[in-house]
Order: sequence, then C-alpha cells, then structure tokens
Amino acid sequence: MEHRQVAAGGVDARIEALKKQYGKDLVILGHHYQSDDVIRHVDIVGDSLELARRIPDIEARNIVFCGVYFMAESAGLLARPGQKVFLPDHGADCAMARMARAEDVQNVLEKLAAAGRKIVPLAYVNSSLAVKAVVGRFGGAVCTSSNARPMLEWAMKQGDAVLFLPDRNLGRNTARALGIPAEKQVIIGADGKGLDSEDVRGADLLLWPGCCPVHDSLMKPDMVDAFHAHFPGCRVIVHPECTPEVVQRCDGAGSTAYLIKEAERAAAEGKEKALCIGTEFHLVHRLMEKLADRINIIPLAHASCPDMEKVTAENLLATLEGLEQGRGAVDVEESLKAPARDSLVRMLENC
Ligand code: SF4
Repeated sequence: MEHRQVAAGGVDARIEALKKQYGKDLVILGHHYQSDDVIRHVDIVGDSLELARRIPDIEARNIVFCGVYFMAESAGLLARPGQKVFLPDHGADCAMARMARAEDVQNVLEKLAAAGRKIVPLAYVNSSLAVKAVVGRFGGAVCTSSNARPMLEWAMKQGDAVLFLPDRNLGRNTARALGIPAEKQVIIGADGKGLDSEDVRGADLLLWPGCCPVHDSLMKPDMVDAFHAHFPGCRVIVHPECTPEVVQRCDGAGSTAYLIKEAERAAAEGKEKALCIGTEFHLVHRLMEKLADRINIIPLAHASCPDMEKVTAENLLATLEGLEQGRGAVDVEESLKAPARDSLVRMLENC
C-alpha cells in the first residue's frame, strides 16, 4: 500500500511538472465519469456536450482528452487547424457506440430509403464519427441527452419516420415524454433484416438495438423501489440511458449536467435528507463527498464504466511525455469531416 502511494505520488508530480512545462500550449479535458486519479489533473471537467462546446474557445496547441474515443473524435472535428487532440488510451471506446457500426447504419438507411419512406436518422452523440457522417449524408442530425426531446420533435417533422440510434433506451424515454405511442415504436435489427415487416412500415420511430451496459444492465427497477421503501418521500433521479422501466419509477431523469444541478440544488435548499442518483459511480461518489455536510447522496448502483476507467494517471503521464512524438494523437479522417459536421450543425441550428 505504501509502495503504491509513493508510486502514485511520483506520477502525479511528473504530470504536474509537464503541465507547467507546456503552460498555455496544453489543456487537459476530462469527462465527469473519469476517476479521481485523473480528474485531479484536469483543467476543464464536463459532460460530453459541455466539453464539446468548450473546444472552439481553446487556443492551446495540444488538447488531451480524458474520456472515450467518440468524445476525442468530436474534439478533433471541432479543433482549430494546427491543434492536436490526444486520448491517453485508444482502447477507451464506448460500449454503446460500438453497438452501431457505420456500415450497418448505412445498410439499414439504404434499405429503408429503397422502401419509399423518408426516414430521418437521429444519432445520439455517443456514436462514432463515421456514424455521424452517415447520419449527416442522410439529412439527419446529432442529439445529446439534454436536447434529445427538441431534436426528436425536429426530426419527426423532417420526414415520414425517425431512426434513433444507437441508444434504444434514450429513444424510448424521449418518445414517451413526447407522447409517441408504444405501438408506433419498433426496435429494429442492426443486420437490416425484417425492415419490410408491417411493424416497421407502420412505425413512426425506429430504434437501433443499442444501449449503455452501465445504465441498462446495472440499474434495475427493484433498486428504485428499494430506495423509495427505505427513504419514504426522497427522490431517485437517473440518466435517461436507463431502461424505461427504471425511468418510469423515478422522480426525474436527465443528462449528467441535470443530475449534478439537481444534487447541488437539493443540497442548497436543505429540504431533502437523501437523494438517490442513478448514473456512473465516479461522478456520484464525488457528489457524495462534496455535498456530504448538506445532503446524503446515495448511488442507485455501484456502476462504473470500464471504458472510462481505461484512462489512468499512468497513461495520461505517458501521453504527456510523448506529446511531441504524437503519442495518443487522434486523427480524424478527412472524408468524414464535412458530413459529420453537417449532422452537428443541424443540432446546433435546431435546438
Ligand atoms: S457509461 Fe455507457 S455510454 Fe458512457 S462511455 Fe461508458 S459505455 Fe459509453
């Protein structure tokens, strides 16, 4: 134990020394789901939307992104000419993003177009740049968990039906909030089979069969019931990547930014003795510690994201030591830039 502490201290000191050495030429961004070991070195912390919004204002030559691959790709898309984006571990992918491969999305959209209906794709930001480019080419847009509702409303007006991807849960939760009947929604196969069925032809909302394993599998309806039974009158709030069965039992659902704001508001008001939060554990644990003197924050589940955990203080240090050699650099394929940007611009223009 003593040995690990000494080693970690060495890593921390070397990271801080390199940050000092690079000065204004380096900015480290970190997603809320990163571990404390990483977050302590981060200059800007946020959810994926907040971090993407900060990119255009960053002047540093080197942007190190502590998060998962699709976030670093989006940062690369939004970066200025001459800026470089780095991800400390390229294996830090997102399990949900992996569930929608660009070639499958393209195949499904081509088959749907051939059937004669105008299907507008709407991609949750948790998807690869290649998928965002396909969506852009088919006239669709990107959305986040904060703006999924207005973006789904927008998409519904652009054609005969919407293909929402990759997260079936966010799609179903948003559809419910908009009053789209369950019988007008259908989960399709990623292999493009069965798209000529009566169900698909009659649906207003086609849902890709993807999900976030952290929010989908580890947060269960009976956990919400157990909290309500133990803490009568206290609220459970969750991320809308949880299943509709969980969301419907809760007292609120929204983006990471919403969950943080609700916790801080409840702590400031001092009316609730406990608040249960259903999202990734590192974030909930930091809120627990930060607000401990004012409210009892309780995690719905001890659910951490294995992909986010691949970024560590050690590989952050290795990235900083290899910046000049391009170690960990994320390259955005030139042919994807324009169509992926189209899908992002349509989001920015319509919500
Ligand atoms: S928590 Fe889920 S959606 Fe977020 S990065 Fe991990 S796998 Fe992807």
